[in-house]
Order: sequence, then structure tokens, then C-alpha cells
Amino acid sequence: MDFNDTAVEATFREEVRTWLSANIPTPDELKGLDYIGRAKLWQKRKYDAGWACIRWPKEHGGRDASAIDQVIWNQEESNFDTPDSVFGIGHGMCAPTMMAWATDEQNKNYIPKLASGEDVWCQLFSEPAGGSDLAALRTRADGDDWIINGQKIWTSGAHYSDYGVLVLRTDPTVPKHQGLTYFFIDMKSAGIEVKPIRQISGGANFNEVYFTDVRVSDSQRLGAVGQGWQVALTTLMNERASIGGGGGGVNFDSVFDLATRVNIDDAPAIKDKNVRAQLATWYAQESGLKFNGYRSMTALSRGEIPGPENSIGKLVGAPKQQDMASFALDLLESGGAIWDPELSDAAGMFQATYMASPGLRIAGGTDEIMANIIAERVLGLPQDIRVDKGIPFNEVPTSNS
Ligand SMILES: Cc1cc2nc3c(=O)[nH]c(=O)nc-3n(C[C@H](O)[C@H](O)[C@H](O)COP(=O)(O)OP(=O)(O)OC[C@H]3O[C@@H](n4cnc5c(N)ncnc54)[C@H](O)[C@@H]3O)c2cc1C
Repeated sequence: MDFNDTAVEATFREEVRTWLSANIPTPDELKGLDYIGRAKLWQKRKYDAGWACIRWPKEHGGRDASAIDQVIWNQEESNFDTPDSVFGIGHGMCAPTMMAWATDEQNKNYIPKLASGEDVWCQLFSEPAGGSDLAALRTRADGDDWIINGQKIWTSGAHYSDYGVLVLRTDPTVPKHQGLTYFFIDMKSAGIEVKPIRQISGGANFNEVYFTDVRVSDSQRLGAVGQGWQVALTTLMNERASIGGGGGGVNFDSVFDLATRVNIDDAPAIKDKNVRAQLATWYAQESGLKFNGYRSMTALSRGEIPGPENSIGKLVGAPKQQDMASFALDLLESGGAIWDPELSDAAGMFQATYMASPGLRIAGGTDEIMANIIAERVLGLPQDIRVDKGIPFNEVPTSNS
């Protein structure tokens, strides 16, 4: 494991820092824009200066940077107060899938607009009957120029997206993984209805998406008919790499700081032995995650691809966020119930993380699925039982049959 920048990496880091210091949007520039407008303004500024999606090829709007340069960029950008991004799915999952499977012509048409922030993309994979077991999805596409009928769910950002990638069942008579085909689609197509789902946090970031006789051209198919699972794996591999263990929000430092500011039995909470023991556990976990991150960075720096051990970050990091936020709310006693950012401690950060962290443990693969990946692909344990293996999809018993 190598913890230090090479000379070349250090020079690059300095260049990034200098550009960021001079170009972060000012409050005046952002005034009057909603969060999508703010995100688009920041993305366009990076694009115009050659700092958008730096790992992508130059002809697609990137700068042909290495994976380690991307990590350095991310680290430096996270040190600044930048507008929240609405491009995570488009940049992290849809674009890599397009670049791997679409034609040159299509990439030339669609990818630069993703890099510049002009277009936002979403991922239409999950369905009521196909989440962890994605290959069990039921939304159908029939015909030659295809007609789609069915329902997707939990689609983040569908309500403001211009395009989406989606997996559909095109042949129910073969085993489930073989009957899928992958497309990209214009989210304004006739017959698409987007219904926001209200979350516990009060926001509505994800949606139900209904398809009623929606037409998608065969030219928007990625991969061969029946090859959708292989194309979806490209998206999923990139999803696991881009969803981390919840780096933002509550961390050891913020809970430690809180414990120095609030009292238990008239003494600072930090003096309490149970609080100290709990903080020590999280310090150990956070250090483990940091070094696991360094392991991935070292692999990237050497031009290698980090393996399924990346799932450790999500499996440990997401529950840790939830536990720490819950602990902080207990320390705040009745103040924990106040989550108006104007009135609550740390501008409502503990409350916001408490509400958002259950979703982190589900999105991009649940805790149990992460544990299965680590068990099977890191530890080499026997595979999970798959009762529908090899059975034609339309002969798999359902709760209705
Ligand atoms: C914040 C958020 C954003 C999301 N955004 C998107 C998006 O943009 N696009 C999209 O397509 N989807 C999105 N999702 C959906 C997400 O991918 C699914 O919720 C997730 O894959 C789990 O599927 P499910 O909800 O159907 O749960 P299920 O798969 O029904 O799981 C239910 C429970 O069973 C457990 N379980 C299932 N299978 C196994 C197994 N083999 N072994 C052990 N336990 C198992 C699970 O761990 C879970 O506890 C989002 C979800 C969240 C929370």
C-alpha cells in the first residue's frame, strides 16, 4: 500500500486545487437557482474549463485522465462547498455503459451533453418484483421497434431526467437472465408517467415510473436482443464502484465534537465511559475504511481494477452512518427531535443523516447482498441457493400461481 502522492500526482493535485479555489461558484452566482440549476451551472463551468468527467476520452468531453487522477480530483473537490450533483447516475453508471455498448455515432450525440450537464440521465432497473433479484424484472418490450408496458420503481431523479437506461423482458420463455434486453430512452416519450415517492426525510427524490405502450426504437438497444443481463452488469459494476460507504454527513469527528459539547449527568458526554467505548469502535471502523480505500487507490494507481472487496466499504460504512446519527440524536436528548436546520445542532446534519441512512443501506445493493458478494467472491464460500436456475422465466412459480 502506498499512502503518498507520486511527484506527478502531487503536481496534478496542486493544479486541481488552484483551479477549484478560483472557480467555485459564489453565493451571488447561485442566487435564485434551484438545486438542479445550481448543479448544472457548476457542471458547465467544469466542462468549459476541461475539468468535467476527467477520466472520459477527450472526444466525449473528458481529458483522458487516469483513475488515480479522478480520485485526486474527487478528494480535492470534496474539500470545497460545491452545489450538490444531480449527475451521479448519468456520469457514474449510464455513461460508462453507453461508452462500452453504444455506437460511436450515439456516443458522439449523447455523451458530451452528459459531461456538460446539459442532459441528466436516470437508471430504470428496479421493479416491484425485481430489486436485489434484478433479473426477475417483468416490464415487457415486444415487437421489432419495441413497445414497452410495465412499471419501474425507486427511480432516482426520473422527475428531472432527460434520458434513462432500462432493462426489459423481451423473452419470457427462456431462463430469467437470458430473456432480457437493454435500451436507453427519452424520458419525455409518450406513455411514460413519473410519480414521485415521498420519503421519510420529506423529500421526493425517487419515483414510480409507469410505461403504457411506450415506443422505443431498436436503434436505442444496447447489446444484442437477449444480452441485456451482460449490459446491465456493466452498469452494476460501475454502480458499486460509485456508491461509497457514505463519506458525507455524520462521521467520527462530528460525533466526537458533539460529545464534548453536551452533558450526561452534569459532566461532558465525552467523559462517559460508554460514550468513549462507542467512539473508539467507530474510530477503529473509520480507520479500517480509510485503509481499505487506500488499498483501492493503490490498485487504481497501478492501473489495476479494485475487486469485490469494495463492497466492504458499503457494508461497514452505511450502517455506521445510521448508528452514529442515531447515537448523536440520543446525545441531543429532546433537541434531537428538532430538525429545522435553523434551530437544530449542526444545522440539522444529524437529523438529516438519520433519515437518509436507511436508504444508503439499500441503494446499490442491500447489506445482505453486499455480505453475499463478500462471502462468495472474496471469501470463496458456497453460492447462495438459486431455486429458479435454468427454469424458463414464465414457468417460475409466483405468489399468484
Ligand atoms: C435511496 C435509493 C435510491 C435508489 N435509486 C434507484 C435507481 O435510481 N434506480 C433503480 O433502478 N433502483 C434504485 N433503487 C432501488 C434499489 O436498487 C433496490 O431497492 C435494491 O436493489 C433492493 O431491492 P428491493 O427494494 O426490491 O428489496 P428486495 O430485493 O425485495 O429485498 C428485501 C429484503 O430481502 C433481502 N434479500 C433479498 N435477496 C436476498 C438474498 N439473496 N440473500 C439475503 N437477503 C436477501 C434484502 O437484503 C432486503 O433486506 C434505489 C433505492 C434506494 C433506497
